[in-house]
Amino acid sequence: MAGEPQSDCLFCKIVVGDVPATIVRETATTVAFRDINPQAPTHVLVIPKAHHTDAAALATEAPELAADVLRAAGEVAAQEKIDEAGYRVVFNTGAGAGQTVFHAHAHVLGGRGLEWPPG
Ligand code: 5GP
Ligand code: ZN
Repeated sequence: MAGEPQSDCLFCKIVVGDVPATIVRETATTVAFRDINPQAPTHVLVIPKAHHTDAAALATEAPELAADVLRAAGEVAAQEKIDEAGYRVVFNTGAGAGQTVFHAHAHVLGGRGLEWPPG
């Protein structure tokens, strides 16, 4: 069922502490932690604690939680001091776009020049 923890989900395991992560921010409904394979000087993943497979499912199944994730992404950017220079929030959606973990997550990327359009 949407929102329920999934025993085979890496990010559900990070939420409960079964898999360690470098957590930089936590709210009642979200967790933000450093990506294990950073693509920029600042690369933080912001996830809802509840399991939803991707951003679109999250927004459909739990719109207020989707807003919490976006708000937390902005708070992380400010905390990491990349907000003034500018940063990118990315939701890879589907394997063809590079999604490898099917628990919705926002990549918050900054601290270097960011090309547009992205690759
Ligand atoms: P996706 O490719 O699904 O958009 O993003 C998944 C992200 O999770 C990747 O950037 C990958 O580096 C990161 N990742 C995968 N396994 C782990 C892990 O065990 N810990 C952390 N902190 N990040 C992970
Ligand atoms: Zn999950």
